[in-house]
Amino acid sequence: MIIDFHTHVGDLRSPDEMNRIPVSFNNLINRLDDERIEKAVLLPVSVSPEIMQASLFFSNYSDINRLLKDASRYSDRLILFGNLDPRVGCLGNLEPAELDNPPITDFSPFLSRFKELGCVGIGEVTANLPMDDNRVVNLFKQCGNFGMPVLFHGTGPGRGVYGLYDEVGSPRLERLAQEASNTTIVGHGPGFWAEIDGNITLKNKYIYPKGPIRKEGSLVRLLREYPNLYADISANSGFNAISRDKDYGVKFLNEFQDKILYGTDVCYGDKEGRMPQLSYLRELLDNGLISREVFNKITGGNALKILTLYKP
Ligand SMILES: [Zn+2]
Repeated sequence: MIIDFHTHVGDLRSPDEMNRIPVSFNNLINRLDDERIEKAVLLPVSVSPEIMQASLFFSNYSDINRLLKDASRYSDRLILFGNLDPRVGCLGNLEPAELDNPPITDFSPFLSRFKELGCVGIGEVTANLPMDDNRVVNLFKQCGNFGMPVLFHGTGPGRGVYGLYDEVGSPRLERLAQEASNTTIVGHGPGFWAEIDGNITLKNKYIYPKGPIRKEGSLVRLLREYPNLYADISANSGFNAISRDKDYGVKFLNEFQDKILYGTDVCYGDKEGRMPQLSYLRELLDNGLISREVFNKITGGNALKILTLYKP
């Protein structure tokens, strides 16, 4: 079964992209049919201010409840995720004794509600916070208690971007993976994928660095060392990482065949918005560079393995 682990529905256009077509349920299902994809994980993105463009803000699907309600009509094709910003939650008035050490948010009412609505994971987390911020660790830990994997967008440090941020070498991601060791964590985004290369600089942690990979990056070490860490190859960041150096990419896909998830992150409903990941994997399969078993794990088997709450 082929599962696109990273899809969105809603108006994700920036103000200078109003000529593009937003993703609707209809054009998403049509794309899945066209590309012979059985199911898609639907990730709401409307919960963090950093992701919010005017078009999404005023779209029907800036309302996560409405998005999930409409998505439930496609339960044979869509796998639902809820989403939360790690800053969400009202602690009320602090007691004087709590000033230095404020209580942490209890996310269980949110997570229970998402579970009732049929959600089997949380994401895409896009808050612009340090990857090991206590609020991030708290959210990720509680998702693990609910058996829900969490998918995040990773970027480099600095203001004005979206996504959890980290320094070169992924020290914060390592701490998150340690602290939330009972949570399945799925990473994606430029800051996450640029770390496939050990010769990374701060400047190319935000972008799609090209060229051969001569030295293993921190991502490779973390995928080896942390059983709870997974990687989604969606978007330009994921595709660039596995294809910038074809030989290395093939080696990487084979080594981490149990931890890689095929996804697209298609953000537009038009044909130009489609992504090349699946045809690339099909080509590697046809050329004998990955086995049928590896192809099946990456394009669906691993997804079913980590989505423990999902009942097809
Ligand atoms: Zn996304």
